[in-house]
Amino acid sequence: LRATARAVSSPLPLASGLSRRGRDGPRPSLNHAGGMVDPDGSGHWAGGGPVKTSSSSLADTPSPNPSRKREGDDGVAAAISRAHAAFPAWSATPVPDRAAIIERLADLLETNRDTLMAIAVQEAFKTIPDALGEVREAVDFCRYYAQQARDGLQSVELPGPTGERNMLHLDGRGVWATIAPWNFPLAIFLGQTVAALVAGNSVVAKPAPQTPRIAAAAVDLAHQAGVPKDALILVPGGPEIGAALTADPRIMGVAFTGSTATARKIARSLLEDESRPIVPLIAETGGINAMIVDSTALPEQVVADVVTSAFRSAGQRCSALRLLLVQEEIAATTIEMLKGAMDLLRLGDPADPATDVGPVIDQAAYDRLMAYRDSKAGQTLKTLAVPADGLFVPPTLIRLDRIEDLDREWFGPVLHVATWPAGKLAETIARVNAKGYGLTMGLHSRIARAAEVAEAQAAVGNLYVNRSMIGAVVGSQPFGGEGLSGTGPKAGGPHYLYRFVAERAVSIDT
Ligand code: GLU
Repeated sequence: LRATARAVSSPLPLASGLSRRGRDGPRPSLNHAGGMVDPDGSGHWAGGGPVKTSSSSLADTPSPNPSRKREGDDGVAAAISRAHAAFPAWSATPVPDRAAIIERLADLLETNRDTLMAIAVQEAFKTIPDALGEVREAVDFCRYYAQQARDGLQSVELPGPTGERNMLHLDGRGVWATIAPWNFPLAIFLGQTVAALVAGNSVVAKPAPQTPRIAAAAVDLAHQAGVPKDALILVPGGPEIGAALTADPRIMGVAFTGSTATARKIARSLLEDESRPIVPLIAETGGINAMIVDSTALPEQVVADVVTSAFRSAGQRCSALRLLLVQEEIAATTIEMLKGAMDLLRLGDPADPATDVGPVIDQAAYDRLMAYRDSKAGQTLKTLAVPADGLFVPPTLIRLDRIEDLDREWFGPVLHVATWPAGKLAETIARVNAKGYGLTMGLHSRIARAAEVAEAQAAVGNLYVNRSMIGAVVGSQPFGGEGLSGTGPKAGGPHYLYRFVAERAVSIDT
């Protein structure tokens, strides 16, 4: 492996405002130290710790104001007041006009693609392909939800067989809180936010504390596109900001992506005050995602898809593969091939286009993952060497005796492998289902019946057959899970926007 602490000139056309650190190449080990994680340790929601901000490169975007987090509840309350005041005018803006504004935002994201990618690389240690994917997905969310709003949120006239005039209106509900994760700090941050906006809500948006700059850039572009300043307000900060946000009775809905434990806290907080309206919570959380491989699968494809699903993005996707289940007869050869494929992974500077796996998000994630990996030394089948400098968690393969031995999500490049006996596909799927999560599952098999069994039995939001398990495409693979993995509706799917609106039926007897 090449040393990665070296200074490299970034291949991206860095805009003028980027920090020196950016120009000299990212120094991953210096960033984000001090971030805290939520109690379930999934690492998907990381909060607390001081927010490190610096001026954004994007058209002089004001950085999130660091003093805001010290304002605590007051800052949040003031933001909600402004968003509340902005709601009537924004919700009265015709759907096509709101959709056009969101499409303008998509155009601006594309125009500013390189700058946004540079921030994603610097702030979230995204590899170049991941940073590109991030911008593309954000654009897709904007265009898709704009079109969905045009097609599906207009008022409709319903039958009135007795002579009444019956109308159904789909109106914004009020102020939504959107709470985003660091692992998709642009795509998910904006996806949740533009869905709420295009549906006629105003939004107070909280990015993850590790990734405030890209969120600030996105909000700035949204304002440039025509979203009124007070209809979309950014409140950077950690869990205390999130808690103040969801505790405010003026919040009329929450869209959250992060850990199951935090989703539970938010749900509790929304129900605590008995005088408060009962409002929707859309939560997209983690998973213990399995891929089941039988003896008819194509070994080369299996190995390529496993490496992609488990180790790309340093395993920091909620869709990522955590548990590989290989039919006993092919386990030895599959694992040997997989170990060989892991050797080809290039760990290093995320700004280097050749890098496959960059550092993990912060020191807390690094410590947690390394402690777990070390505790499993006796079962480790393969682990890689890492660059000397930086928060690199080595892609690691851990053998399990039983499927049940994995009972929580490890949010990093750590893959577990166990075997299953021939003829027991349905039972194996049931054992995975029994974990209670239900986000993604993979199957590799050339037997048509096996795919049918998986389709019928897998209690997951996203089932992938004979392909990788990451990278759901907006509009084609609506994304989101069930059980401990989330509430639905699915992001990037045709039913998502409906959760953001109030349905009002009006019957007029003429
Ligand atoms: N939608 C992403 C994917 O399909 C994962 C989103 C997440 O990690 O929250 O890989």
